[in-house]
Amino acid sequence: MRLFLLPLLVVLSAPALAQKTKKEDAELAANLRRHVVFLTSNELEGRRTGTEGERLASEYLMLQFGKAGLQQKGSDGFLQAFPVADGLKVEGTQLRVDGKDLQLNTEYFPLAWSGNAQVQGNPAIALQEHDTPWFKDIKDLLEENAQNPHFDLQDALQTLAATVKKRGATALLLYNSSGIDDKLAFEPKDRRPRVDIPVLYIRKEAFAKYLPNESGSHAITLVTQVRAQTREGHNVVGYLDNGAAHTIVIGAHFDHLGHGEDGNSRFTGDSALVHHGADDNASGTAALIELARLLKASKYKGNNYLFIGFSGEELGLYGSKYFVDHPTVDLSKVNYMINLDMVGRLNDSTHALTVGGYGTSPTWGELYGITGKKALYGGNLTYRFDSSGTGPSDHTSFYRKDIPVLFYFTGLHSDYHKPGDVADKINYAGEVQVLRHILSIIQKTDASGKIGFSKTREVSMSNTRFSVTMGIMPDYTYPGAGLRIDGLSNDRPAQKAGLLAGDVITALGPHKVTSVETYMAALGQFKKGDSTEVTYQRNGQEAKTTVQF
Ligand SMILES: [Zn+2]
Repeated sequence: MRLFLLPLLVVLSAPALAQKTKKEDAELAANLRRHVVFLTSNELEGRRTGTEGERLASEYLMLQFGKAGLQQKGSDGFLQAFPVADGLKVEGTQLRVDGKDLQLNTEYFPLAWSGNAQVQGNPAIALQEHDTPWFKDIKDLLEENAQNPHFDLQDALQTLAATVKKRGATALLLYNSSGIDDKLAFEPKDRRPRVDIPVLYIRKEAFAKYLPNESGSHAITLVTQVRAQTREGHNVVGYLDNGAAHTIVIGAHFDHLGHGEDGNSRFTGDSALVHHGADDNASGTAALIELARLLKASKYKGNNYLFIGFSGEELGLYGSKYFVDHPTVDLSKVNYMINLDMVGRLNDSTHALTVGGYGTSPTWGELYGITGKKALYGGNLTYRFDSSGTGPSDHTSFYRKDIPVLFYFTGLHSDYHKPGDVADKINYAGEVQVLRHILSIIQKTDASGKIGFSKTREVSMSNTRFSVTMGIMPDYTYPGAGLRIDGLSNDRPAQKAGLLAGDVITALGPHKVTSVETYMAALGQFKKGDSTEVTYQRNGQEAKTTVQF
């Protein structure tokens, strides 16, 4: 009889277990939906970093972390504040001509790279004397370069400002007497280096009104103040201490695009709609909350767990970068990091789950290999592996600190970075499968101790608009002028030309590079087979090399 008991038990318990799992999965799906619905509500206005919507989202996350029984592990309770570069702003700027104040913006404006100073003088428009402000008509510059596609007026004006300063000008007052539209404006995102003297542009009508007399002198008083602004983002950090030697970091960014104010929306419609970011990344945030709850109750005590909701991700991985540079746990004790970014759109026919960071530890190969895979929760998931430790999300910051990473992602879709990324389109049952799969990874490494780390190839900026690439990973958070290289792909043009991580590219051939955007624009000018000179800064020294595309 005993012998029959065993198979009998199996037969009996299998459906019972399946029932239980089914019920738990249904509850899990309902919880995920509840979190996503809250995070994508209109009240949170797209969770843009540094806004009230981000604050409300962080409060929700803190509440849920508290409910799950996590310890506060930010720098201020659960929170960790960090600065985000927010462009330039004109403050306290004045221009007075012969006792009359000109109106900022409508009559004049400083260029974004203007120096900050207070200057007085009595110059004549046509006369350029030492120790006075100089007037300069940009008519000639515009006319001479009307046919030059590589001409950049602001670059030319920067050179002009440096030249006139050397010759004794205390400020540069620009005007345009030509019929050519110069399109000059104060550009808050400008990242050109600042010059030493104030540079103001006086609009045509204002120039005619206040400065009609070419030869007479005018009493000029001016003050310029252009300041770099920052706004504050907040990570939410919670800890589950099992008294273990090592800690697994589980992260998901909870910020999104707001109304698209930061220029990272793909929406081309007219009105600034709320970008709800249900898949990107309310889905990962919801999974983070549920993983905290499940791991608190689980038997997996071989590691401690650090749960981090990152902000500033959409602006360039600001939150995760800040965390790894200001960690609240000992990073050398971190076992590995799991990043969930866009895990809510599992395709019901392909069941494809992208597993990034596959090459960052030999352990991942063992687990996902033929024999190991059976031990993992698979459901009907199929895996798409990406070996690289870097990519467009927060695991990159941890990989750069030599920490093994896994990045889970259910794939791009047409609503990506558009207002149509809403809660109704999330596949909650699919997300439960992703969550169960991650739990099985954690279970399988519960007794492994610290797993090994391997370096992987770098993903270069791939963009189909470009026929050439350099094979570099840009540092999106670099605040200076130029493009700072964060990493390089092996055997690609940049590495072959001798460029190194940390170098700051300032020009590609004749094209100035002041930011990631201007770099991309410059790159678009080349095709395969071209070669060009790259100007870059290394340890503060300018150098040049030749790249072959
Ligand atoms: Zn995104």
